Amino acid sequence: MAKLAIRGGEPVRTRLFPAYNTIGDEEKRAVLKVLDSGNLSQFLGTWHKDFFGGPTVQQFEKDWSAVFGTKYAISVNSNTSGLFTAIGALGIKPGDEVIVSPYTMSASALAPIIYGAVPVFADVDYENFGLDPASIEKCITPRTKAILVVHIFGNPARMDEIVAIAKRHGLFIIEDCAQSPMAVYKDKLVGTIGDIGIFSLNYHKHIHTGEGGVLITNDDQLAEKIYLIRNHGENVVESKGVQDVFNTHGFNYRMTEMEAAVGIEQLKKLPGLIEQRLANAEYLACQIGKINGIIPPAVEPQCRHVHYVQAFKFKKDLVGVERNDFVNAIKAEIPSAVMREETHLIGAGYVKPVYLQPLYQQRATHCSFNCEKYKGSVDYSKGICPVAEKLHFEELFFHEYMRPGMSRQDLDDVVAAFMKVSENVAELRQYAS
Ligand SMILES: *Cc1c(COP(=O)(O)O)cnc(C)c1O
Repeated sequence: MAKLAIRGGEPVRTRLFPAYNTIGDEEKRAVLKVLDSGNLSQFLGTWHKDFFGGPTVQQFEKDWSAVFGTKYAISVNSNTSGLFTAIGALGIKPGDEVIVSPYTMSASALAPIIYGAVPVFADVDYENFGLDPASIEKCITPRTKAILVVHIFGNPARMDEIVAIAKRHGLFIIEDCAQSPMAVYKDKLVGTIGDIGIFSLNYHKHIHTGEGGVLITNDDQLAEKIYLIRNHGENVVESKGVQDVFNTHGFNYRMTEMEAAVGIEQLKKLPGLIEQRLANAEYLACQIGKINGIIPPAVEPQCRHVHYVQAFKFKKDLVGVERNDFVNAIKAEIPSAVMREETHLIGAGYVKPVYLQPLYQQRATHCSFNCEKYKGSVDYSKGICPVAEKLHFEELFFHEYMRPGMSRQDLDDVVAAFMKVSENVAELRQYAS
């Protein structure tokens, strides 16, 4: 008789895991206060004191800059718009290249394209999955203007080496910290190491405001451009007396007072949420890491990985079965979570390396790599980033079972599922795809 649930056996658990819901009375009260005021956004897209938004938005930004220790924290309506804003603020334009990671949410790589520039994909590090400094170096040309680093999964990229490369070649650094709020690289919070750091406050992230984002910087000139791009800069530059108006055509990337009210409360909860997440992640890495061929994520010394997800490497020769079959077997043993009933908390691979998307394969933009100002020839063919491809298609799986709210019993059910599947790989192999 079959033992594994995927073959018709009894699953380890069918009861859903607890929801990851960080919204409580604090957020409700804060939003009600804004609603009672009737003032749901106070932004004005002209040079006026309300160019910087209402009192709640400004308080939220003040709190954020205090936590991260930067001169400026500037809210926007998403990390995606924050990435676009950062590229614009750096003066990036058609003909320029920006080095990006292929193993990230698509918006990180897309940002240069919005300003007519070309994303050039460097490969990722086999141990921490962030940009590999040696690969960055190979991608640098006279057209390179910036390196866009993603601290993927919450694990800091190798910033010492990346900063040294940027200094040597006179390049800007943007840090996409959507998955890594309060991650630490050698005593520094990520986002404070490069020229601009950007955070996401969407529903899936450590803390959220529904949708939202924050940029941080210590640079006065970059901050001015960020404010202008966020809020209709073209209307503002003349009255404000802005000298350098390049790329100051603005958008409406403004956060509402309600989101800012939620953000203030969520930010207070962030350190505690990270502590719980790290404790759960450590327990799971220790237990699941006992399986021969399943390798917990490597974290550089003096660094803190904040585990947006926990990514493991999977060695099929040691485990004795293909990664996808193993992950599917886990899915059958344990359920999803409340509020996410349809979505499993474990996945094989992450996202396909970005250059394999149709946009890049078909070179479907009017400017960027098709622009007459572009004098390079960028390669987006399969095989350009072998490490990212190997991780995605063969070796990496990730899960979210370390989310705060999981009890020790919940975690033990997860461990039991991994142990059960690894002890029954023979059964799995016999029927595998
Ligand atoms: C979530 C995410 C984004 C996009 O964030 P939004 O706030 O949804 O725009 C960008 N980059 C990475 C690495 C992300 O995880």
